Amino acid sequence: MPAYKDQKSGKWKCTFYYTDWTGKKVKKLKRGFATKKEAEDWERHFKLEKAKSLDMTFGDFYRCYEADIRPQIRENTWMSKAHIIEKKIPVLTNVDEAVKTAHVENINKKYKKKETAATSVENVDGELVCPKCGSALVLRTAKKGANAGNQFYGCSGYPKCRYIQNM
Ligand SMILES: [Zn+2]
Repeated sequence: MPAYKDQKSGKWKCTFYYTDWTGKKVKKLKRGFATKKEAEDWERHFKLEKAKSLDMTFGDFYRCYEADIRPQIRENTWMSKAHIIEKKIPVLTNVDEAVKTAHVENINKKYKKKETAATSVENVDGELVCPKCGSALVLRTAKKGANAGNQFYGCSGYPKCRYIQNM
């Protein structure tokens, strides 16, 4: 892990190669450290982070898994594994960036709609019940802020649950 001093600026830099998950060697260069130790610490930290990050898609992971495991087991066993993975979860094994982005957007949209649409329901005793946690709602009065003096329903589970509903 060599660190070098830049003669012009007097700063230290580190340059090294690391292997990404595809097995490709990638060159990394980072300048501007005040000391040699800082440059070396940064390199060590970078390599540690890289080692635990899983920046691959499920499809990539599946192909790595196949390359690793397929030669070790009977072809029939592999075929049934592959069948399960490819047929039951094709969305995860064959997906491009555009599909992934659209999927994530859909989930976000659905989730946000749900959150704003959620409203209290009455239980058998006619009490209002929090849609988030199921505790009873209680009538409260806002003490501060723009709504001070206004009444609203707040969850009796507060502060664990912060659900509120305007009247
Ligand atoms: Zn609640």
